[in-house]
Amino acid sequence: MWWSMCSIAASGSRYVCSMADVSSLVSEGQNSHIVVCTHCESRVLSPQSATLLKKSYPLPMPTQPKNQLSTLTEDLSEWWVVDDMFTFDNIGFSHSVGSTKYLVCADCERGPVGWHDNNTRKSYVALTRVKHA
Ligand SMILES: [Zn+2]
Repeated sequence: MWWSMCSIAASGSRYVCSMADVSSLVSEGQNSHIVVCTHCESRVLSPQSATLLKKSYPLPMPTQPKNQLSTLTEDLSEWWVVDDMFTFDNIGFSHSVGSTKYLVCADCERGPVGWHDNNTRKSYVALTRVKHA
């Protein structure tokens, strides 16, 4: 299992292995818990509706410093992949940037919690930007 390799490598890694116990969030490759907004607990995904993907991808930071010319991002490496946006219980979209839309909470509009690919129509929710209830 990749997450046990991940925890072995964690000592020398700057990566998201801080989320050491991700295995408890996954059942047969899918989310075993309800996924909710970290701020208002609005329900984003029902259990068993998204598939875990481990892939490094940059996501803009939730708060950007003022007078910053370019968007600050952080590389996140664990995502819930949602094939169909109608799978979401609640989700909001920001404006498109190229072929990407960013996902925000439908209720409090905070985020981004992930991104949506306009070409493949798949959505990616960062495990570290949501809460598992
Ligand atoms: Zn919210």
